This record gives sequence, C-alpha cells and structure tokens, in this order.
Amino acid sequence: MFSVEGKTAFITGGTSGIGLAVAERFVRQGAKVFIAGRRDAGDLAAGIGATAVQLDVANGDLFAHVLDVVEEDVGKIHILINNAGMENVGQTLVEQAISELDPAVDVNLKGVVHGLKYGPAHMADGGSIINTSSLAANIGLPTYGFYAATKAAVLSLTRTAALELAPRNIRVNAVCPGSIRTAMLPDDHPEVKLTETLCPMGRIGETDDLLGLYQFLASGASAYISGQAINVDGGVSAGFGYGVLGLAETAVS
Ligand code: NAP
Repeated sequence: MFSVEGKTAFITGGTSGIGLAVAERFVRQGAKVFIAGRRDAGDLAAGIGATAVQLDVANGDLFAHVLDVVEEDVGKIHILINNAGMENVGQTLVEQAISELDPAVDVNLKGVVHGLKYGPAHMADGGSIINTSSLAANIGLPTYGFYAATKAAVLSLTRTAALELAPRNIRVNAVCPGSIRTAMLPDDHPEVKLTETLCPMGRIGETDDLLGLYQFLASGASAYISGQAINVDGGVSAGFGYGVLGLAETAVS
C-alpha cells in the first residue's frame, strides 16, 4: 500500500528537516532518491542511501541543468517534491523592508515555479508532483506577511499545474504543514508556544507526522487526487480547541 518502490524521486530542500525525513522514508521504501539543496550534502545523502545534488532553486538555469543531468543518469523521474523554502517572519508589513520580499519570492515562489516549469519534461507520465506550502497560506498570522504570500502563491500554482499536467496523468498537490519541529522551527521559536496553545492536540508536529501524506500523494494510491492542498496541523485549522477556550481540564478523556 502507498508504494514508492522502484520509483525515482527528486526532492528540493531534501538536505534538512521535512525534505530529508521524506527522503529517508522513500529510500527505506525502495525508491531511488535525489536530495537537492545549496549545501554539499554528499555524506548526508550517502548515509541514508540517497544521492545529493547541489542546487539553489532560485537559479532556474541551474535547476534545468540539474534535471538534465539526473535524467541522463537514471532516466525519467516519477516524483518531484518542490519543498525547499525559507522563512523570514517576525516583522509587520509596515516594518519589514521591501528588500526582504526578494529572498522569500526567489526561494519559496520562483523555486517552485522552476520545478513546475522544468520538471515535467523530465517526468514519466503518471508521476506525482508535491509542493510544500504551509498552513500560513490558509490562515492569517501577524508578521508572516511575505512568507505567507509566497506560500499562498504555491497553492495557486498547484492548481494551475494540476490542470495543465492532467492529460499526462501527472498529479500536482500541495502539503500545508502546521508547525513542525525542524531547523526552521527551533524550540525557542515563538510559534512553538503559540501552536502548543492553539493546537487541539496540544503539541507541535514532528517530521514523522507528515511522512504518511507525502508517501500517499507520491504513490498510485492517490491516482485520482490532483490540485488539492492538505493541511497537516494537528487540527489547528479546524477551529478552537479546549485549550484556547480555557477548558483544557474538561476535555473528554
Ligand atoms: P529546514 O529544515 O530549514 O529545511 C529547509 C530546506 O530548504 C533545506 O534542505 C535547505 O537546504 C533548503 N533550501 C533553502 N533555501 C534553498 C535554496 N535557495 N535552494 C535550494 N534549497 C534551499 O526547514 P523545513 O521545516 O524542513 O522546511 C521545508 C519546507 O517546509 C519549507 O518550504 C518550509 O517553508 C515548509 N514549512 C515548514 C514548516 C515548519 O514548521 N517547519 C511549516 C510549514 C511549511 P540548503 O540549506 O542545503 O540549501
């Protein structure tokens, strides 16, 4: 069930956090996996049985070249995960310098555009593209303006690409993680306390909490699902839990 065995996956932002956890899972399930990021991740990749590719997703020419090289090496890819991202939150729209919009757009938006522009030519028909967006695309949060806007744009791109690639049976979906413990969200990040309060489950997520969805969307088990965005947030987007209402002790056991 949810098999990725024998498939080839290319994961941007596969050198850390969510992307790395997905890479490890897919390798264990029998996929050939390429992890792409700016750092030299040769040893890291070797340690999990993947192959590292150095790539800045903001550089479209480089992205196209890297995919050429991968196809020459192993043939068409079946799974493309546009997951690389950066977060620059903490200032209001009034405070944040316009120049800080550029890195968010370059990585979070153009990085996904490049994957959607250059990836399909290197993919087998029937493949799966998964874009990592964010819960921030779906709910407002003060000081998350630039980041959230780029992640909302990823949802729009997901729908457009799903329609454009449907004739090839290439599905395009988005995962919208809530707060997940990674290098991007260290324990002292203000969002941790906020989520522990807001989340009906009373905790932030771990990368493990996302793996089932990425695997499902990558596999043939989701063959009729495309253009969708799925929150993985411990129920935060469902509404207000007991903790927020100050009724934690009345929760049904
Ligand atoms: P992370 O551990 O900091 O990983 C970020 C990854 O993105 C790294 O592999 C990094 O690789 C790569 N990356 C960043 N800029 C890049 C660039 N210009 N070119 C290529 N790769 C680049 O953070 P994470 O939490 O796993 O984040 C993964 C994705 O999940 C991001 O899109 C993020 O916005 C999204 N997300 C995270 C959370 C959360 O709470 N953690 C919540 C919602 C959404 P290099 O450093 O090697 O370049």
